[in-house]
Amino acid sequence: MTELTGIFKQIEEHSYTPDNCFLCGCELSDDNRTIEHVIPKWLQRKFNLWDQKITLLNGTLLPYRNLTIPCCLNCNNRHLRPFENEVKKAFENGFEAMSELPDEILFYWLGKIYFGMMYRELFLDFDRSDPKKGTIVTPEYLDSFYSHFLFLQGIRGQIAFSNFFPASIYLFKTQKPKELESQWDFIDNQDALFISIRMGGIGIIALLQDCKSTKKIEHHLDVHKKIELHPLQFRELSAKILYKGILMNRTPKFINTQTGKGPVETHMLPLQGFSSKPIFDDWNDDDYSILMSHILRLPLDICQPKKGQTYTWLLKKNGEPLFIDIKDDLNLF
Ligand SMILES: [Zn+2]
Repeated sequence: MTELTGIFKQIEEHSYTPDNCFLCGCELSDDNRTIEHVIPKWLQRKFNLWDQKITLLNGTLLPYRNLTIPCCLNCNNRHLRPFENEVKKAFENGFEAMSELPDEILFYWLGKIYFGMMYRELFLDFDRSDPKKGTIVTPEYLDSFYSHFLFLQGIRGQIAFSNFFPASIYLFKTQKPKELESQWDFIDNQDALFISIRMGGIGIIALLQDCKSTKKIEHHLDVHKKIELHPLQFRELSAKILYKGILMNRTPKFINTQTGKGPVETHMLPLQGFSSKPIFDDWNDDDYSILMSHILRLPLDICQPKKGQTYTWLLKKNGEPLFIDIKDDLNLF
């Protein structure tokens, strides 16, 4: 076994403690310690999220304001802030500006939020009345996201993607409910490295490690870009993209090489591999309906009125996009 050097060594030896930077792993002292908000402060202000609560993996609730992770001054100011500023500026300029952001910026921005959510859970007891049960997320579990964590080192300029891009990122226009708090929505899923955020008039959905596999079928989703989606429709679309991500039956494999002091070059091995089997399993309406009912927080018999027939709020019977005005009461919430 070759000895680990540089960034690989840093990642391999990363200590997951409250006294190490979540990104570069350096030890934190009074001089370099900062706090990174997983959901950026500007978004929390914008949508009044501070005291709202987010559901964690163990089903408990944590106020957004407490969703912070340890970070060093250098990573925070020099590396993370420029991404944050670019996304904030684009967001303030509206949907078009957001769509024009390079995929890489959105990937790092979403990737940090996704990873930060799990990272925070390293420091929370699974069962507060019984700390012996351990934390919600364990270092071993986080290690299974090795590639994603390695890719995030691109935030520090330590990674270059050579023949691929890790994520599929989708943007949709969404309608804005009257109350600020309802203009925000967040879903994540660990099975498919999936994240979905609705913020005001912009909805972003991403599969952070499908290596653009689902992006190839994006034309099927174009119809939903013609209208501004109702929050329920955006959730349905999130369920659809998440399910497609779960159906992917290949795990991308990467080869990482580093020459000299330059960034690590990451190459993806052919996804198809030696098998002629399609890379997505067949769509199963029953399974999808269960996932959709979970994501939409609606009873299964509403999402699937008849076996094999999944209901949709996205399309009219003739295949045209269905516009559901936010002002109409759907009687569903
Ligand atoms: Zn750092």
